Amino acid sequence: MQMLLGGQGRDSGDRRTLSVTNPSTNEVIDNVPDANAADVDHALETAVKAFPTWAATPAHERVRLLKGFAHIVLEHQEELAELLSRENGKPIVSARQEIEGCARLFEQYATESLRLYGIHIPGDVQRGYEDDIIYTRRYPYGTMVAITPFNFAISLFSHKVAPALATGNVVIVKPAEDTPLTTLKIGALLHEAGVHPGALQVLTGDGPRIGKALVKDSRVQLVSFTGSTAVGRDVAAVGGKQLTPVRLELGGNDPMIICDDADLESVLEQAFFGRTLENGQCCAASKRFIVTQRIAADFEDALAQRLEETSCGDPLDETVEIGPLINERAADRAEQQISQTTEQGGHIRVGTGKANGAYLAPTMLTGVTKNMDVARDMEIFAPVFPVMRARTPEEAVEMANASRFGLHAAVFSQDVAKAIKMAHGIEAGLVAINGTGLYKPDAIPFGGWKESGLGREGLTAMAEQYTQVKTIALRGVLS
Ligand code: NAD
Repeated sequence: MQMLLGGQGRDSGDRRTLSVTNPSTNEVIDNVPDANAADVDHALETAVKAFPTWAATPAHERVRLLKGFAHIVLEHQEELAELLSRENGKPIVSARQEIEGCARLFEQYATESLRLYGIHIPGDVQRGYEDDIIYTRRYPYGTMVAITPFNFAISLFSHKVAPALATGNVVIVKPAEDTPLTTLKIGALLHEAGVHPGALQVLTGDGPRIGKALVKDSRVQLVSFTGSTAVGRDVAAVGGKQLTPVRLELGGNDPMIICDDADLESVLEQAFFGRTLENGQCCAASKRFIVTQRIAADFEDALAQRLEETSCGDPLDETVEIGPLINERAADRAEQQISQTTEQGGHIRVGTGKANGAYLAPTMLTGVTKNMDVARDMEIFAPVFPVMRARTPEEAVEMANASRFGLHAAVFSQDVAKAIKMAHGIEAGLVAINGTGLYKPDAIPFGGWKESGLGREGLTAMAEQYTQVKTIALRGVLS
């Protein structure tokens, strides 16, 4: 497949390519261009030229085009879902939901963008300004770079591109090397829907090289990055040199606290869903299970049984619950993290702890204690359940907070007042009570505390994240 520059399919200037592999079968599905510096420059020049036209397009017209695109996506849902499942390895059922979500998000952000109201500030509240008319307007930033990770290529594309385009910005998307194909197809559908060819471009290639080249270019006015904390830190440093606003959605090691008085059946269902969705590769997955003493053995037994019954295999099989990880490197890394935990004193209760190609069977680790890496800052991006025991709810909150991450969290207790008190003490961008922290309605201000991010995504965060405010003052007109 070619990349999308200025509405045209293009190869890399030096014809280099990267192959995209189906992690389930290890077969190469397609090749994409590995962009070079001249391609990056071309994309930026095109974006800069397109911005005045796109920004001057009336909001109602931009909204009409984006809503039309949402319809087109639904017409192509099955073929897009299949492609997404093949390049990513995610179960086909989740791939379908992600494509449907793309249509919904474009529709919703488009609608929301019609409410980008300014405010009127009365002048007469302060001496000396009585005769002035003061009001604010919201403006797009200009050229935005959107860098997306492999795990929710389309969902995160939608959470960045829909609000950016709806508010009049132009966007260059840099998808992850492993999953560029569905993004390219969807980008072409945006053009088919009538979006200006320079307003949305997709540049494929090596992240450290072209991602960095994009972020450091002074023609870029906004960067929205989702990925690991390590790379996010680099992106912030590079963007910071030009004071480019950088929004970061980063890693997590989210706790799920299970109190003695929790409803075990619902805990089990939510723990399984919250850890295994996307084959265990969600930023806001529940990744540390902190269980208070009296319920701990029952929880471990019930979870072990559920994990033994899990169906793993071909993600295109409708009955499969867990497919492969994104590639063999990811499975090897999870294997290494499991053995690091057993070397530190943890036990494997379910699973072998061994990768098989890109597959890693669901794994349960018991005997995890608070000084182990997995109990703090080691994010495992795989269906691995580290279980820790706490003596009291207070100690559980302390263990939850003993991490440099602070994305989402969960508390299970039938005593809602106690759960709320605990939620207030947890350092995270969201705490779900009696449900997994893997919880993301479109509207919430989604994002993390501490090293899990900077800024928020979601419908309610759109104005703040994608527009800048200008105040207009008409001096003395009321005298
Ligand atoms: P990653 O950081 O390796 O890559 C993310 C993107 O950055 C890719 O497109 C990659 O090509 C690009 N990139 C790599 N080096 C770069 C550089 N130096 N400059 C600019 N861009 C560069 O992450 P990943 O492995 O694709 O995703 C997994 C990580 O993302 C996990 O830590 C996960 O928790 C996190 N994540 C966070 C959220 C969130 O919303 N908070 C959502 C999904 C994933």
